[in-house]
Amino acid sequence: ARETYARRRPKSRARHEEAAEVMPGGNTRTVLFHGPFPFTVMQGEGCRVTDADGLAYVNMAGEYTAGLFGASHPAIRAAVIRALDGGLNLTAHNAFEARFARLVCDRFPSIDQVRFTNSGTEANLLALACATIATGRRTILGFEGGYHGSLFGFPRGAPPAVNVPHRAVVAPYNDLDAARAVARENASDLAAIILEPMLGGGGCIPAEQSFLEGLRALADETGAVLIFDEVMTSRLAPGGLQEATGVTPDLTTLGKYVGGGMSFGAFGGRADLMAMFDPRRADAVPHAGTFNNNTLTMSAGIAALGEIYTPAEAVAHNARGDALRAALNAIAARCDVPVQVTGRGSMMAFHVTPQAPRNAAEAAATNQPLKELLFLDLLERGFYVARRGMVALSLAVGEAERAAFTEAVGEVLALRAPLLR
Ligand code: PMP
Repeated sequence: ARETYARRRPKSRARHEEAAEVMPGGNTRTVLFHGPFPFTVMQGEGCRVTDADGLAYVNMAGEYTAGLFGASHPAIRAAVIRALDGGLNLTAHNAFEARFARLVCDRFPSIDQVRFTNSGTEANLLALACATIATGRRTILGFEGGYHGSLFGFPRGAPPAVNVPHRAVVAPYNDLDAARAVARENASDLAAIILEPMLGGGGCIPAEQSFLEGLRALADETGAVLIFDEVMTSRLAPGGLQEATGVTPDLTTLGKYVGGGMSFGAFGGRADLMAMFDPRRADAVPHAGTFNNNTLTMSAGIAALGEIYTPAEAVAHNARGDALRAALNAIAARCDVPVQVTGRGSMMAFHVTPQAPRNAAEAAATNQPLKELLFLDLLERGFYVARRGMVALSLAVGEAERAAFTEAVGEVLALRAPLLR
């Protein structure tokens, strides 16, 4: 399969080799790398992307959830052009940011107040800084398989302009007893409990309701700040998974699609916590950021939440995702192969395991080479899923493409059944 892949893509190979001269591995975004070399996309329209060799794919990877609107949504395009016409780099507050903030606050139950960043990574750094400053503690409890961006730990003793935590402890996902044990052991220094309410990049593994409720109680018991990283999962219900599960964190981080497909991040939550960033205060925690209020993102975000991904559309879109996942699981069962498609709503991931994984260790037990083979097989049939088997359904993927994708998956599973079993 790798040979076929390489043979059909000489131009992408040449571009990769050139890029590798000036960027390590020819890459500036690790997740996009795959062997033997990644293909280079030259153009996208709607749900379709075309590579340097002229091969077209239906983009089922959906920019890892950020591409909810597809490559060329007219309302996003119009919003960006509107902002562009008003001028770039205005060096002041602009008319977009408070409108966008209002949409975000109205939408997500935990968010009384919000501040914008340029990425989900930054949003998480700021949320963690907020928690450590508010509590005067430094330990963060996270969960195996949780991804919160390219987080840094600064060395102990470095001047804490932003008080980045430097001590992390970890527990397995969906294991409340283990989380309790770790949290209680570290209770006097526990600043935050941070998790995705469904593991996203870690394999689309939903949290069990009792796990989320138990962590809410555990945060209250220990005085830690509960942070939901909803960078990916906020699209899974009108008010994110916090609304769908009824478990309200103290702080929430956002990113990806909320900015309409532009560079974006946000963190927000309880007004008493967010107040530390109020520059009217003498002891305000500084949170600058040249592009935090950039007009292109602010305007695209207003269109994203206000015009396109309305609460009704969020419900409808996630129902489409649920139907697609059910169809894929039915095909896997019919082919009698140990393939599970986990997830919720419009996010899903393939696992080559006999049972749906509940945590990162079980997901890691998946047969990786076979997963990679499925990725290449699907590419050859014109469907692009993330290499690790993730699908983030965009609004641009229509009924016909979903049906064709289901058929292609069926073909591939039947073809590879002897290997998979
Ligand atoms: N949190 C989660 C759950 C993510 O999936 C990601 C990105 N994949 C991030 C944070 C980081 O966001 P960004 O890539 O915008 O820095």
